[in-house]
Amino acid sequence: MTRIADVIKIMETWAPLAYQESYDNAGLLVGDAADAVKGILISLDTTEEVIDEAIAKGCNLVIAHHPIIFKGLKKINRTNYIGRTVVKAIQNNIAIYATHTNLDNVHNGVNFHIASRLGLQNIRVLSPKKQTLQKLVVFVPVEDTKVLLDALSSAGAGVIGNYSGCSFRVTGTGSFTPNETANPYIGQANQLEEVIENRIEVMFPTYLTGKVLAAMRQAHPYEEIAYYVTSLENENQEVGSGAIGTLAEPISETQFLQFLKDQMQTGCIRYTALRDKPIQKVAVCGGAGIFLLNDAIRAGADIFITSDVKYHEFFDADKRIVLADIGHYESEVFTKDLIFAHLSKKISNIAVNLSETTTNPVFYL
Ligand SMILES: [Zn+2]
Repeated sequence: MTRIADVIKIMETWAPLAYQESYDNAGLLVGDAADAVKGILISLDTTEEVIDEAIAKGCNLVIAHHPIIFKGLKKINRTNYIGRTVVKAIQNNIAIYATHTNLDNVHNGVNFHIASRLGLQNIRVLSPKKQTLQKLVVFVPVEDTKVLLDALSSAGAGVIGNYSGCSFRVTGTGSFTPNETANPYIGQANQLEEVIENRIEVMFPTYLTGKVLAAMRQAHPYEEIAYYVTSLENENQEVGSGAIGTLAEPISETQFLQFLKDQMQTGCIRYTALRDKPIQKVAVCGGAGIFLLNDAIRAGADIFITSDVKYHEFFDADKRIVLADIGHYESEVFTKDLIFAHLSKKISNIAVNLSETTTNPVFYL
């Protein structure tokens, strides 16, 4: 039996909740994580129509990008669309899980998906996050080094980009004197002991601190472990906002805009003055991404593609870049395919369905 908690674990191994923005509300919004999953419906938004679709398809778990509960709710009744959706979900025993800015912010998340849909190469995070990494230094007898390194690695430490098992060690002499109440692995009470030890260094994401330290305690032979944890200022290349990449060949601005319109299936692109310069470097941010405009310019992008751009914000492009607004729904609707592909790889015993409900509240004449 697969429980909702099992699906959440798959989702959060990919897009940890720790990577959502401070204003966000991703996670299990409605329902009981202990329930068995009968079917999964993947949608961009959760609306009443999406809950109806879940009922019709025998799904009791809706996974959406946008959290239907975003700000605090003081009343849950049928007087607005949020209340109607939540009430209907609860009445029909349907859980709602949202994977929002945490999925935007991870490598292989929303923005990488948009970038690959546009055929970009060498895709990387446009604005990498800082203060998401820590370093563990721990001292261990030489003969126990491998067991400890394996345990740290299993807990998720030592991954840098496409490399795992990354660590550094140097051998030296550790010294200690156990007192009468100690129960030392090596040595005797009140006698100074010297042991050849390795000093091991590994990096890990901050959100894994508990898991990594528990693995260290489990695998280390000493009663008292000498270790320290340091916060790193390094940019985390795997986590952050937006994505940037390059087209294999430069193409003209008008050709690219037409290609963009076709690829993202949008009815309308609003864009700033063209610069008579071919497009090759492309920055993207699904949803409202104008806060990344200067990052895109600094990174040398020829065009920045996002949505929800206001009139005065278009001026900020100032001929330094082409700024293109393709619509919020259009920029993120393919997130459904991204989640579908990920879950289909990991889950085989439960039906994973793509929602067929169009939730875009905006129409174009
Ligand atoms: Zn959005």
